[in-house]
Amino acid sequence: SLAELGDLVSRAYQQGASSGQSQPLCADSDIRLALDHGEIVPYYQPKVTLHGQLLKGAELLARWPQGDDVVMPSRFIPVIEHCGWSTELTLLMLQQGLAQWQQWARRGLRLPMSINLSALSMDSGELVGRIEQQVAQSKVPPRYIIFEITETAVADNLAEAMGVAARLRLAGFGLSIDDFGTGFATMQQLVRFPFTELKIDQSLVQSISHKSHLENVVHSVIELAKRMNLTTVAEGIETEGDQLCLNNRGCVLGQGYLYAKPLPPAQFESWIRQRRQPEGAPA
Ligand code: C2E
Ligand code: MG
Ligand code: MG
Ligand code: MG
Repeated sequence: SLAELGDLVSRAYQQGASSGQSQPLCADSDIRLALDHGEIVPYYQPKVTLHGQLLKGAELLARWPQGDDVVMPSRFIPVIEHCGWSTELTLLMLQQGLAQWQQWARRGLRLPMSINLSALSMDSGELVGRIEQQVAQSKVPPRYIIFEITETAVADNLAEAMGVAARLRLAGFGLSIDDFGTGFATMQQLVRFPFTELKIDQSLVQSISHKSHLENVVHSVIELAKRMNLTTVAEGIETEGDQLCLNNRGCVLGQGYLYAKPLPPAQFESWIRQRRQPEGAPA
């Protein structure tokens, strides 16, 4: 049953979850200035077909460059959420993403872009209106923008998340369930959301090629997503083995270090160029 599947997925996640050491959080006053000065920028991670590795999109992941260092989101996103600045971060990422979209479009690349929404911006009444306004001004067609909402955000803020999701979908944006398999949303909750895509969390993806009992679980998730008409994306693909396994199980798209880490725009462009270079051709 679906309830059993949900149970299996949660247990599989707990087995797969690792205890990473964490770096200290940044000071809120520094982050406030970074937001005001637009110092937090998107890096772009390619999303490719598991079969043939065709480029199908990019996820925008927040980075805070400081000299030669780059501060990772785990050090500032929790503070941003705690301080109530999530909507500001979303709009800052969106604004830069839209400008980048236009720049690439002028060179013939119309790339779907995925933007993460914080669980805590769900109750902001102005979020969707401001998103729609920014996108309308940019003239980027909404179908090129996908908003990612984590399964946990859905489960924790059901009514608010539903309102935000419905309005975003109505405006023509794509809508993705992020980190699927780490939250406790029920199927009854999920099927009511107008999602267009499901992203299988990396904890499940990375376990699958060496823990065969998980393969059936992941396979069921992929089958379920297909029945719900969702595009399936595997996150955190690191090895050819992961890729092969997920592809065999019918997952369509993938993201991960096997293809590329999240990259600044110039490096993202060289990544594309290098892949187009036929083998043995002069640089
Ligand atoms: P997420 O949205 O689930 O993003 C996927 C994370 O997995 C990213 O970490 C990405 O760099 C990492 N990743 C991708 N491929 C691989 C792989 O093959 N192996 C491994 N080990 N990791 C991989 P990152 O960039 O550190 O972001 C972490 C989380 O921070 C994101 O998880 C998202 O929840 C949050 N986040 C990042 N940017 C934003 C943002 O602009 N807004 C909001 N609200 N949250 C964001
Ligand atoms: Mg995401
Ligand atoms: Mg994710
Ligand atoms: Mg995540």
